[in-house]
Amino acid sequence: MSNKPDNKSDRKPESKPDSKPTDAPVISNFLRGIIDRDLADGKYTRDGLPNVITRFPPEPNGYLHIGHAKSICLNFGLARDYQGRCHLRFDDTNPEKEDQEYVDTIMDSVKWLGFDWNYGDKNGESYTGGSHLYYASNYFDTFYAIAEYLIESGHAYVDSQSAEDMAANRGDFSKPGVNSPFRDRPAAESLDLFRRMKAGEFADGAHILRAKIDMASPNMNMRDPAIYRIRHAHHHNTGDKWCIYPMYDYAHPLEDAIENITHSICTLEFQDHRPFYDWIIARAAEGGFFKQPVPQQYEFARLNLTYVVTSKRKLRQLVEQNIVSGWDDPRMPTIVGIRRRGYTPEAIQLFCDRIGVSKSDGWIDYSTLEGALRDDLDPKAPRATAVLRPLKLIIDNFPEGEAVACTAPIHPHHPELGNREFTISKELWIEQEDFMEEPTKGYFRLFPGNKVRLRYGYVVECTGCDKDENGNVIAVHCNYFPDSKSGTEGSANYKVKGNIHWVSVSDSLEVEVRLYDRLFTDANPDAGGKDFMALLNPSSLETIRAYVEPGMVNVEPDTRLQFERHGYFVADRVDSVKAKPVFNRVTTLKDSWGK
Ligand code: ATP
Ligand code: MG
Repeated sequence: MSNKPDNKSDRKPESKPDSKPTDAPVISNFLRGIIDRDLADGKYTRDGLPNVITRFPPEPNGYLHIGHAKSICLNFGLARDYQGRCHLRFDDTNPEKEDQEYVDTIMDSVKWLGFDWNYGDKNGESYTGGSHLYYASNYFDTFYAIAEYLIESGHAYVDSQSAEDMAANRGDFSKPGVNSPFRDRPAAESLDLFRRMKAGEFADGAHILRAKIDMASPNMNMRDPAIYRIRHAHHHNTGDKWCIYPMYDYAHPLEDAIENITHSICTLEFQDHRPFYDWIIARAAEGGFFKQPVPQQYEFARLNLTYVVTSKRKLRQLVEQNIVSGWDDPRMPTIVGIRRRGYTPEAIQLFCDRIGVSKSDGWIDYSTLEGALRDDLDPKAPRATAVLRPLKLIIDNFPEGEAVACTAPIHPHHPELGNREFTISKELWIEQEDFMEEPTKGYFRLFPGNKVRLRYGYVVECTGCDKDENGNVIAVHCNYFPDSKSGTEGSANYKVKGNIHWVSVSDSLEVEVRLYDRLFTDANPDAGGKDFMALLNPSSLETIRAYVEPGMVNVEPDTRLQFERHGYFVADRVDSVKAKPVFNRVTTLKDSWGK
């Protein structure tokens, strides 16, 4: 007889984003409202414990993404604002997919976002003090003891049906389930079998432990859900100690109760699981395992971001099929990816504050994330000059071999930050788009006969251009006005409409610049049954050689800058080496994608 366990409920419910984008949800404080009410009622007043204990419970089976950031900002943010604490808990009850690599990156990502599970004030008096890092696998003994209690008290039984029979007897939404023929076996028999399951006497799937609730319940999650299954598998924390493992729906509420969580906040797809959450904690409390008040589960809408997929499975596919360079590819919505892209923790916190928390699913426009970054970086990012699509400009009347010093503010609104220095000389690099042989209406930049200011330098008058045999412009010529230098008295005599940026051929640094764009061409790449792999944006990465001002030679990896007129860039934290920075474009200066 080949019996396979019904292990459906060991997986968490799948969440399906809506197929239609909606406006951003109204910022709502419904969770704060609940907490305020609980505080007013004194509901969680307990000796030695704060009144608000939340948790962020990732499964260490992948990298965190921007959706997790919403949950992190919410849970750690509530704990911060209510002087409570937030536990970082690895929900590592499933032996097969979990790995230390993921544990490490998750801890890194939470810290980088600006949160900490270690509390304690300087006097060591804070009741929240201590380290609040937990592993669900450390509770395996308690989970097991509660399971024995459930069997003894008639709330659980060992089922020995085949997987097929179990599935057939579960019924469906329109049909009640049928009791297992093993449902009423004596508790002593179930207990004996359960102990032998634990001792390794049976193969995977031979038996399963189920809660005894109601096979006719309209809520499928209450139809005698499986709570323990046999899995002869090595676990990253407990090694080979166990060959039975608890199901997610059984373990998760118990983890919350063990840790004295007050508000257990999860995404909407768990709403139908709440009755079982309450049931299992109530039974364990009856058995003396927990004291009132017990944790309460609350659901909020997950983050769905346009042009982004957040399913771990789909992200893994992008990595494994080499669509991106790795989990930290700057186009990935993983925390390591957006960090490498140049996002700041402050921008992500600002984004999470702006999108708020609601109880109805919707889509957030990607431009909201970019907007938060611009608002965060504009007041603090140093300015610099980069020429991304270089064209040579030759100042014919400039003395050969001479280099005149120029300065520009590091930040236009922060003179205290000082100046950047570079030189101007006979040959410069300018942007190709800053010259037009035959200007269109309203074009004020370089064209023969027109004057423009070379930003922070001189006013020049364009005299013409050189072309190759195919008619492509390869150099532009001009003459400068020696008395027009920015910052000098004479400069006021020159009124020009165009103002262009440039770097000197002689003192600029040639660098690699990576221009990133959306990874998908469709705003909702995995909604409504669409194949996200068919919607990849072929120009999500363009790598170019560009010229930047000389001060960039010493830029530290991770430094974020505004390249004037182009956008926000970061010195890539992985590929930048001393004197050879590589720049990633985080985002352009203005939104070019929004509606
Ligand atoms: P999977 O994609 O494998 O179902 P998951 O993304 O739910 O996994 P977990 O590690 O269990 O992964 O997530 C940890 C926490 O992050 C959970 O509490 C979950 O509700 C929350 N979370 C996950 N995705 C989002 C999202 N898009 N928006 C908000 N919260 C999220
Ligand atoms: Mg999930």
